[in-house]
Amino acid sequence: MKHQDDLEGIQLTVDAAAKALSEAKRVTVLTGAGVSKESGIPTFRDAQTGIWAEFNPEELATPEGFLANPPLVWKWYDFRRKLLGDAKPNPGHYALVELEKYVPKVTIVTQNIDGLHQKAGSSDVVELHGSITRFHCFDNQHEAKDVPYELEEPPSCHCGSMIRPAVVWFGEALPSKAFTRGVTECEFSQVILVVGTSALVQPAASLPMAGYNRGAKIIDVNPETNPVTQISFLSLMGPSGEMLPKVVAVLAKRKGQS
Ligand SMILES: [Zn+2]
Repeated sequence: MKHQDDLEGIQLTVDAAAKALSEAKRVTVLTGAGVSKESGIPTFRDAQTGIWAEFNPEELATPEGFLANPPLVWKWYDFRRKLLGDAKPNPGHYALVELEKYVPKVTIVTQNIDGLHQKAGSSDVVELHGSITRFHCFDNQHEAKDVPYELEEPPSCHCGSMIRPAVVWFGEALPSKAFTRGVTECEFSQVILVVGTSALVQPAASLPMAGYNRGAKIIDVNPETNPVTQISFLSLMGPSGEMLPKVVAVLAKRKGQS
């Protein structure tokens, strides 16, 4: 009965993850594209269909690409905002909201730009790559509000600079405030969940390590093994929308019994 053994094995891992979380005072959750994908949001490359397949990422998502052809980049982000459409948080997002009932401090540090953690109701979300629904000007980062969609080209800021999406483009540094906050949260957490991200790309990849070096237990929640698996205390191999609700269900049960 191999299948039965597998199921028992998964349940033991889920129980162990719940125990580690129930003992933690502070938990950081690092999330990436896998979590958004489970809500039907295509990754950058998956979104490059139709006419967009003809462009390379340098043309669509770098400061140089924007300056070379502002309307093109503007329309690409308009298109991606449309793809986001009515995307809703999935059970993984909601399980992370539930987690706040069982851990005194939960911080989500996300590489996703879709705002779904906030939409689900997570109270503390750090956006490492910015947000596709926010805007600022190119030269001075003046925040721009109420930017209409479906314009033919970027509007101008009061300072005269072009408005751009408030996302981190290839070759750009992560917002230092968000990155520093992410590192600090990892360093002071007892458990770090790494969810739906292979954590391959630096500097975001250094976050789990920052916590690991201070003794945090790393719990890897990914469908496949990845570099984080090697430093993980536990690995929950599967989609976050399945694994995280299982863990939260055990936490709820434990609380009911105590
Ligand atoms: Zn400006």
